[in-house]
Amino acid sequence: MIYADNAATTKMSKAAVDTMVTMMNEEWGNPSSLYSHGQNAKEVLEKAREDVAAVIGAQPGEILFTSGGSEADNQAIRSGAELGRKKGKMHIISSAFEHHAVLHTLEKLKKEGFEITLLAVHENGLIRPSEVEEAIRDDTCLVTIMYANNEIGTIQPIREIGAVCRKKNVLFHVDAVQAVGHIPVNVADDNIDMLSASAHKFHGPKGVGFLYAKKGILLTNLIEGGAQERGKRAGTENVPGIAAMAAALKEAAAGMQENAAHQTAMRDRLIAGIGEIPHSALNGDAVHRLPGNVNFCFEGIEGESLLLLLDDKGIQASSGSACTSGSLDPSHVLLAIGRVHDVAHGSLRLSIGEDITGEEVDYIIQSVKDVVGYLRSFSPIWRNLMEGKKAFIL
Ligand SMILES: *Cc1c(COP(=O)(O)O)cnc(C)c1O
Repeated sequence: MIYADNAATTKMSKAAVDTMVTMMNEEWGNPSSLYSHGQNAKEVLEKAREDVAAVIGAQPGEILFTSGGSEADNQAIRSGAELGRKKGKMHIISSAFEHHAVLHTLEKLKKEGFEITLLAVHENGLIRPSEVEEAIRDDTCLVTIMYANNEIGTIQPIREIGAVCRKKNVLFHVDAVQAVGHIPVNVADDNIDMLSASAHKFHGPKGVGFLYAKKGILLTNLIEGGAQERGKRAGTENVPGIAAMAAALKEAAAGMQENAAHQTAMRDRLIAGIGEIPHSALNGDAVHRLPGNVNFCFEGIEGESLLLLLDDKGIQASSGSACTSGSLDPSHVLLAIGRVHDVAHGSLRLSIGEDITGEEVDYIIQSVKDVVGYLRSFSPIWRNLMEGKKAFIL
């Protein structure tokens, strides 16, 4: 099997599994307990906080452990909104191609009276800092823009957007779930006030993540209860999961340069090979792109059939995000970059892992070519295109 859906989730690394098992067997105490068994667990927790903070250039006290990226996004945005509400600032800026954890939180805030500006995304899948600057108003309390898109892999000019927000004195949250552990992320250099990350996107366990909030930012609780996580996130901490996340992140950070160089080479080989298919197009900028992301549209086919046939050939891929596949709506990300419905339906996302080989890449290219050709051979849409009854878009 070739697993090419790492943007949906990754396999846990051996270090992460080993750490998790050890902690479950040995450090199963409650970190809030005062006897030594509890305090040992507390030590594990705080060591993990230091390790995670170090990787993104934060202070340990600025890291809050959560149940994953979705919770971190929810809490960051809700916190930014509540801080704004207190000052009578109820305008939030985001973009049209954010993850649903962001978009749905914003929709909820809209119902509560917040005004939301969703910036358009350019055809190359990028947002311009100047457009963020133009959208900022006197009553803007928060800008939330993702570091790298989970479907088309484009990497936003976060540092420049952050600089704009600093200049205008507006809080800046970044959903960095696809970036952390894969490309360099540093909250200080990148002018980030709040950042979300998730362990299962960098070979850690599912159900664990973290929220970075710059010192001095008052967070709003999503979960009320005990005083864990400085009183900002109640519930007995998932010590084994958190320790495993820290182990996975340390490993990802140590191998990042080498992994990214290999993945980028493999990615570009895939893009060149798949790009030979007539009437296909790469989605998103070819350069400002995650090392492991390839996303294509093909005219005249359905993404779903493509995926099933690739699965038969042992290739696990996706036609969008795991959250939207299963619904018949085309991806909101592809629509945001201006792909029309017909074309957006025929999309393929390959998110390759660090250990993919050149042979596997060549096998994927050949398989995609074969499957696209096969599907087109009996597609009525493709026949119409070939007979000139409909115009090609790509
Ligand atoms: C996966 C993902 C999330 C959600 O993270 P979970 O840990 O699965 O809740 C949020 N944002 C982006 C960009 C993602 O890729």
